[in-house]
Amino acid sequence: MKESIIPKDYNHERETEWQAKWQESEIYKFRAKENRPRYIIDTPPPYPTGSIHIGHVLNWLYMDIIARYKRMDGYEVLFPQGWDCHGLPTEVKVEEIHSIKKNDVPREKFRQMCIELTSANIRGMKSQMQRMGFSQDWSREYVTMTPEYMEKTQLSFLKMYRKGLIYRAVHPVNWCPRCETAIAFAEVDYHENETYLNYLEFSTPKGNENVLIGTTRPELLAACVAVVVHPEDERYHHLAGEKVTVPLFDREVEIITDHEVDPEFGTGAVMICTFGDKTDVTWVNRYQLDIIEAIDEQGMMKEVCGDYAGLSLAECKEKIVEDLEKEGFLTKKEQVEQNVGQCWRCNTPIEILVKKQWFVAVKELAVQVESAANFMEWMPEHMKTRLLNWTGSMDWDWVISRQRIFATPIPVWYCKDCGKVKLPREEDLPLDPTHEQPKEECECGCNDLRGEVDVLDTWMDSSITPLVIAGWPSIEFWDLYPSSIRQQGHDIIRTWAFYTILRSLALTGESPFLSVVVNGMVFGEDGHKMSKSRGNVIIPEKVVEKYGADALRLWGANSVPGSDVPFAWKDVQHGYKFQRKFWNAFRFVNMHLSDYQEKNLSSDVLKPLDQWILSLLNRLVEEVTQALEEYNFAQARNRIQSFIWHDFCDDYIEAVKYRLYSQEDVESKQAALYSLNTVLKTSLQLLAPFTPHFAEEIHNYLEGGESIHLARWPGSDEELVDIHAEELGRVGVKIISELRRFKASSGMPLNTPLKSATVHVDNPELIVHVETLKNDIMGTIRIGNLVIEEGKPEVREIVVEVIPRMDKIGPEFKAQATVIVSYLQSHDPQEIARNLKNDDYLDIDGSRVTEEYLTLRKELVGHTGEKAELIFLEDLDLVVEMVI
Ligand SMILES: [Zn+2]
Ligand SMILES: [Zn+2]
Repeated sequence: MKESIIPKDYNHERETEWQAKWQESEIYKFRAKENRPRYIIDTPPPYPTGSIHIGHVLNWLYMDIIARYKRMDGYEVLFPQGWDCHGLPTEVKVEEIHSIKKNDVPREKFRQMCIELTSANIRGMKSQMQRMGFSQDWSREYVTMTPEYMEKTQLSFLKMYRKGLIYRAVHPVNWCPRCETAIAFAEVDYHENETYLNYLEFSTPKGNENVLIGTTRPELLAACVAVVVHPEDERYHHLAGEKVTVPLFDREVEIITDHEVDPEFGTGAVMICTFGDKTDVTWVNRYQLDIIEAIDEQGMMKEVCGDYAGLSLAECKEKIVEDLEKEGFLTKKEQVEQNVGQCWRCNTPIEILVKKQWFVAVKELAVQVESAANFMEWMPEHMKTRLLNWTGSMDWDWVISRQRIFATPIPVWYCKDCGKVKLPREEDLPLDPTHEQPKEECECGCNDLRGEVDVLDTWMDSSITPLVIAGWPSIEFWDLYPSSIRQQGHDIIRTWAFYTILRSLALTGESPFLSVVVNGMVFGEDGHKMSKSRGNVIIPEKVVEKYGADALRLWGANSVPGSDVPFAWKDVQHGYKFQRKFWNAFRFVNMHLSDYQEKNLSSDVLKPLDQWILSLLNRLVEEVTQALEEYNFAQARNRIQSFIWHDFCDDYIEAVKYRLYSQEDVESKQAALYSLNTVLKTSLQLLAPFTPHFAEEIHNYLEGGESIHLARWPGSDEELVDIHAEELGRVGVKIISELRRFKASSGMPLNTPLKSATVHVDNPELIVHVETLKNDIMGTIRIGNLVIEEGKPEVREIVVEVIPRMDKIGPEFKAQATVIVSYLQSHDPQEIARNLKNDDYLDIDGSRVTEEYLTLRKELVGHTGEKAELIFLEDLDLVVEMVI
């Protein structure tokens, strides 16, 4: 290919052309029949909100780098993409768009509206993912709202039900009064807030001794079923077993004792309500107390609350506190901090209601989940502890029924006669029992069956992804199960990771993946969580438009799993510049490659700097491979960039240019071309997982033909890793770069010929090095004659100026300061220096001025016949005396 058709500047807008070509040629398609080791990525199915955010970009970038690296490394990679469609946010959005409430239209119609919105959102996000250059196999796309997927979710429900791992029971559940649905503990977020601790007087029937109770939830007074105190609390233990009267409601409850009461909190006496919090549930079960349901599904007070019935929780609280005060039951109020559980989707404080719900028997499987987690590789390791802690804290089963519409239906009916649960036949799945009848009657002979209206938690869909991507329930799924790797955010360890491990164990007996890579969150440039109100939100498309997907990818790759990453424009810009730097180097090398003939060069014609750059290259290959194996993306990216930018572009190319233009030494020129070509191609391959478009573009100009993403990952040739060559090369590029800097700072064009130079070296080993590098130094710097001499140059150091340090002289000598300054200005600097050397101080009109009050500017003077410049290379202990 001719240089003339390669554009002068790299144009990142061509990225989309490559994306189209990749899709067209299906280079990322998983071919199960290929006889290669498999690498299967269990990717997170995102919620189809309509656009991917910068956190998605980071998450998918990790997966994409791994997928691309593994493909090049000889694996057949399965990198699918799914969509976790069901759930409340879409329902709410549909209500908004159509200005309806979900019950205004038939269920099926509402579902259809949700499907339409979700499909459009998926299309948008898919094209954004492709615009980032992510290499999913789109023929393996799965969508949880499709009949094919729902069939699998429903089948998994039936299988677990038959194993006794799913059951229906009346049990207190966390309830979001806004979403009007049960939610799992994993979906409850805890937040600190301030509230009042109200001290209420409960009277004993004898009337002689009132018990003072501290409560933050007086609105639940109607549901008070007992008062509890610590058994060793001397203030109360004589009252154990006695009755007290609930204020306002005039109902008697017993005083019981329990070790879980904190005698330090409030008055040490607590009321048990059904249910104020999780501890109430424990006490009710432990002491078989009655359950009074005071709150309904919308968070309104029920009939049992008497005068307060029909009020919202907040209204009831206000009114009840008012009444308690009026009646004299409220003795004091105290501000306290409390930890309130909130719905993770809408932030409404959750309530605990008693409901007949469907549950997964989590507690039964907890031990298996723990041991499976212990066998997996976790990256970073401490994320495993999060999962284990969560698993260990499990004391309620997972409630999986939801009172919503857009979700996978629970495939059961109930017999109206005998009440038994009727399951469908597996071959009849998927189905919606609200408008389909079972094919068989109930075993009692009754034909009248009522379909379950509750639906499944959306985690029931997404927690079978490793099974679904492998083709479960078809028996061949074992070929692709377990997945090699699961990648996900740390915010969904207690949900997605936990549920997937649990469900996969329940359904197959085997853990779903071998390793887990957990990525961090992306923060705004200011280090804060991104939010509209802070104005620090970064929209990926904006970045891509300006700098290209590869530049954004280079930002993301500068991080490691588990750590939160701040967005940084300067990283993106650095990546953008890096590509342009490399592009220029490529154009230069390519221009000369037309002269390159010797494809199989014998290594003994390589010059010292060729050996140096090839040694660094092979070391780089080894380090980058190792870093990728450890998911250390930042290390891999930074090593490649610094090698290409500094060692290759700044040092090597500059040091071999003279050889490329030389007409005499053909062998040396071919060796340089060989090295340039090798470094260029290998670095492109290393870069391909990070900047797929850029690597493809250059690869296409250089070689054309097959995509670089189908190339084999470069191996490291250990024979070329040579410490001696590296040391020699380091000396060479150091001397050359210092001399180039000298030319530039003296205002000389770099190609200005210099008459002669003498390199003074003390160290005998270094003399040999410099001898070896002589041609490169002379050729690159254009020095006519280079002499190498042992020992220090004969040079003198003279003081050319004495500068008074006013910050010290002023405060110390005060009025004398002007005298001192004028003395210093009117005397010969060399004479001042001599006096200082002899006496350690200057006597200026009676003041003792030592060297600490002065700055001595020195210059070095060489002893040659001609005017010489001296260049000191301190870290090499070497001096170049240059005659211009
Ligand atoms: Zn909610
Ligand atoms: Zn029946």
